[in-house]
Amino acid sequence: ERSRLARLRHTPAITRDGVVIELLANIEQPADAAAAVQAGAEGVGLFRSEFLFMGRAGQLPDEEEQYQAYRQAVEGMQGRPLTIRSIDIGADKPLEKHGRDVFLNPALGLRAIRWSLAEPAMFRTQLRAILRAAAHGPVRLMFPMLAHRQEILQTLAQVAQARQELQAKGHRFGPVQLGAMIEVPAAAIMVDYFLQHFDFLSIGTNDLIQYTLAIDRADEAVAHLYDPLHPAVLQLVAQVIAAGQAAGKPVCVCGEVAGDVSMIRLLLGMGLRSFSMHPAQLLAVKQEVLRADTRKLAPWAAQVLRADHPAEVLAHEVA
Ligand code: PEP
Ligand code: MG
Repeated sequence: ERSRLARLRHTPAITRDGVVIELLANIEQPADAAAAVQAGAEGVGLFRSEFLFMGRAGQLPDEEEQYQAYRQAVEGMQGRPLTIRSIDIGADKPLEKHGRDVFLNPALGLRAIRWSLAEPAMFRTQLRAILRAAAHGPVRLMFPMLAHRQEILQTLAQVAQARQELQAKGHRFGPVQLGAMIEVPAAAIMVDYFLQHFDFLSIGTNDLIQYTLAIDRADEAVAHLYDPLHPAVLQLVAQVIAAGQAAGKPVCVCGEVAGDVSMIRLLLGMGLRSFSMHPAQLLAVKQEVLRADTRKLAPWAAQVLRADHPAEVLAHEVA
């Protein structure tokens, strides 16, 4: 099975009816970029930049160190797009000794973009480093856990200010496409507002499921209720994909479901054309893509979406 899959490494990901699908990798370290390309990824859809900051015992990477790290990742991509997510720390991924306390309800507390906006100097250090790395190859920059209009406007203002600071210092920097992660139900519901402000969207289903169902993704006691096929989750995901399509802007899914072979046909049926996953899943997902016919999957996915129990439809009916 493994060697059969290995032969797919250079096969383009195109469905039986000729639809081109983008298969991207999720990475955590700069050196993973070249490895992802080796594994057959057409780009990186999620570079979890917070891993550069974790386990540092108080000594956080400065602009120069971050620039070198992002640049290494950009160069590892050899011209393919690299999507860097701004730091997503707080609850689930705490920084050591950063002076901020452990939170009462970490998943709902000061994490991700909330944290960055609370630490604007540190945020702009990261933004400047990313903008500088973008001079060396195509970079997309996206922000985790946005939910409020004000957060969007503040984030974009920080990017503009970071550019000005680089200009003032005479540093070379490149263009970046700006994207929002959709991982809070509020964002999915107001997706049209997000589309007005961003070049692309990326659905973080791990968090979107957690927040839609009020299930702590790290809590074993409620793990049985963490359900990617809950009708409410599926409706939000489908709504975001459709809104992106209508606006002519790319939508990716970068949560675990994008690398789950049993979910690929449903996501294709919903109209998803870009998947980002752990590199080890790339070829198995590609195999699903090669077998799929989106003309048949679209009406079937609509039926799954209308079902009271989507998991049952998925198990018993094959498009
Ligand atoms: C997600 O929430 O789906 C996601 C991709 O981000 P993370 O798992 O890093 O929170
Ligand atoms: Mg997330």
